[in-house]
Amino acid sequence: MEARGVLGRRISVAIACIMCVLVVGCVTTGPSSSPTTPTSLAGTPPAVAPAVQRAISQNYCGRRDPRGKKPVTLALPQLPTFDPPPKPEVVPVRTDAEWLGAGPRPNFAPKAIVIRGIPTRLPVVFITIDDGANRDPRTEALLRKANVPVTVFLIGGVASCEPAFFNRLRQHRIAMEDHTEDHYQLNNLPERKQRQEICSVPGKYQTMFGHRPNLFRPPYGYRAFNADTLKAMQSCKLRYLVLWWENVHGQKIQFLRPGPPKFHPGDIILLHFQDDFVTGFTNLLHRIKAAGLTPAVLQDYLPDSAAVLGGPANLAPNPHPGDEIASTDR
Ligand SMILES: [Zn+2]
Repeated sequence: MEARGVLGRRISVAIACIMCVLVVGCVTTGPSSSPTTPTSLAGTPPAVAPAVQRAISQNYCGRRDPRGKKPVTLALPQLPTFDPPPKPEVVPVRTDAEWLGAGPRPNFAPKAIVIRGIPTRLPVVFITIDDGANRDPRTEALLRKANVPVTVFLIGGVASCEPAFFNRLRQHRIAMEDHTEDHYQLNNLPERKQRQEICSVPGKYQTMFGHRPNLFRPPYGYRAFNADTLKAMQSCKLRYLVLWWENVHGQKIQFLRPGPPKFHPGDIILLHFQDDFVTGFTNLLHRIKAAGLTPAVLQDYLPDSAAVLGGPANLAPNPHPGDEIASTDR
């Protein structure tokens, strides 16, 4: 039974994430770009035959860092450099009014706060990356070279595929936060199942990474959660449900805020670990720099959310400033 349960979970994760990455990129567009269509439903994983599921599952956990023990040299793009972000200011962070207006109103006072950005005037933005299914060997080298703070919303089932990879990532100013165990669309699930999906992750990351998440992002985004999600978060002390204002797809950036397409101070930006990650992340850093903004630590602006960036690289300057990195990490 146990083995069957583990296999079933892996299959579920595989389907959800592969479909997420390959088909819809895991996100919805939010109300400002699509005010009437519940686009999150487009992200619902379709039914897949068991034999196909198994193949996806094996391929999924098999998408590991292919370097093995051999050192490789990775050509990386030019990246901008950033001064340290300004000292964070204390600002009141409240649930995004747009969500309360667009979504079903909870019939209780949720402790979890829904945010798309931080109401600050400081010239900062917050980079977030979702999922973890695609473990391109350049990812680690790129994040190390970039040396900017990033929050990763990592799927629990994916973390289990290769914990060492994600533990290494943490050393490059990365905080690992909760993105459910299996990447189901939560508003299709009863509260009990949502609680299971959301609340199995904090303890797991506490063991795996030495940090218990305080932040949560629902799979498929803006319209794919409900009041039961907030209730479930409350039961395992997750304080913030984190959405976004910009969505990066390779060279393209989707701006969801009404008005001119540009970054605003305090915006939360979404990327995915997918095939165009290197292009997207590089492009994003250049665009942030051109806008006169600096990536900052999201958790620094969220009360009761500990600073959780991993590793000594948190405070050290980038030790690998060159364009080529000979990496022997393993
Ligand atoms: Zn996702």
